[in-house]
Amino acid sequence: MKVLVINCGSSSLKYQLLDMANTSVLAQGLVERIAITGSQLTHKYGNAKIVINQELANHAEAIKLVLGTLTGPQYGVIANLQEIGAVGHRVVHGGEKFAASVLIDAVVMQAIRACVELAPLHNPPNITGIEACQQLMPAVPQVAVFDTAFHQTMPPKAYMYGLPYALYERYKVRKYGFHGTSHKYVSNQAAAMLGKPLAQTKLITCHLGNGSSVSAVLGGKSIENSMGFTPLEGLLMGTRSGDLDPAVVTFIMDKEKLSADEVNDYLNKKSGVLGVSGVSSDFRDIEQAAANGNARAHLALEMFAYDVKKYIGAYAAVLNGVDAIVFTAGLGENSGAMRQAIVDGLDYLGVAIDQAKNNVRGQQVDISQPDASCRVLVIPTNEELMIAQDTATIVGNL
Ligand code: AMP
Repeated sequence: MKVLVINCGSSSLKYQLLDMANTSVLAQGLVERIAITGSQLTHKYGNAKIVINQELANHAEAIKLVLGTLTGPQYGVIANLQEIGAVGHRVVHGGEKFAASVLIDAVVMQAIRACVELAPLHNPPNITGIEACQQLMPAVPQVAVFDTAFHQTMPPKAYMYGLPYALYERYKVRKYGFHGTSHKYVSNQAAAMLGKPLAQTKLITCHLGNGSSVSAVLGGKSIENSMGFTPLEGLLMGTRSGDLDPAVVTFIMDKEKLSADEVNDYLNKKSGVLGVSGVSSDFRDIEQAAANGNARAHLALEMFAYDVKKYIGAYAAVLNGVDAIVFTAGLGENSGAMRQAIVDGLDYLGVAIDQAKNNVRGQQVDISQPDASCRVLVIPTNEELMIAQDTATIVGNL
């Protein structure tokens, strides 16, 4: 079966077409600036890459262009749309309704719409993408894969906040956790690397990218994630503040005369390593600036590594031991310096990394010294493959 994976953002759309017979990627690409002048499709197939500049007024037009390109005579990889057996959609928030991926029908769509108030920035473009595919490929089954689903195994003592219980009952205010597809994928890979059944593993998975989260995964089930009600909680991130004393929020609203929307913007888009360093939200720029002697860039990196270390310590306690710490996503996969800074001083957990092995980028590798009792693994994430596998399984069982 060939599965098309779609990940719709507010003005962008990522896609991948996979052949599940051998899990190969036939084509992949990115549409940017949807509904903004200067829309652009970057399409990769085989070793080739092409760019198509074409104004796209909405996500339906973007998906139409993607489908046309996938089946077109010039850059196409399939003869027609009938070759696509299913579409898998990344959906950010599934609330408490979805603990697993699901075939999309009218009832599911209603439930995804009901989650919009929990993820007002993320779920609407996901819904738009699903609707566009339903319109363009009405006969093709569509599956929703949720970022929150993997964390639905968290126990109440982990996901409840110390707020009046009525807020949970009325509005479902609780911790949900995010990046679930990535944490699940690397947990499966880690068990294979450790040569242990997943059910017997104790893992701390660190998804460190522009958005970052850490998970405690016990026997393949998430029991903790550093993100919360929204992706704002937890680690310092590219532009998000991460954990704060909630009193800071009302204090800066008062001092800076900010509305609720403005302070939300402040904490999500102007904070994090960008806010601290004043340099950039991109860790490559910050590492460069720190190397050039920029003290605030250095501080931002120190704060980030310290944050991750604190979560690892907390989750080691929650798990009562750790078989492996896993690093994934842009920063986790590529920055040996950041990995080193994070694991420095974790020898009490049995961590000992090999400097030479740590000098890797984007490869699946165990960077521990041979006798280290807690392994440190670098595992490039592959959310698209995970989405495609869930989609193929669900549609294969129809
Ligand atoms: P992601 O959100 O997973 O795409 O990760 C993006 C983040 O990874 C950005 O902050 C990048 O700067 C960071 N990143 C990617 N490659 C490197 C690298 N070689 N060294 C340091 N950071 C990197």
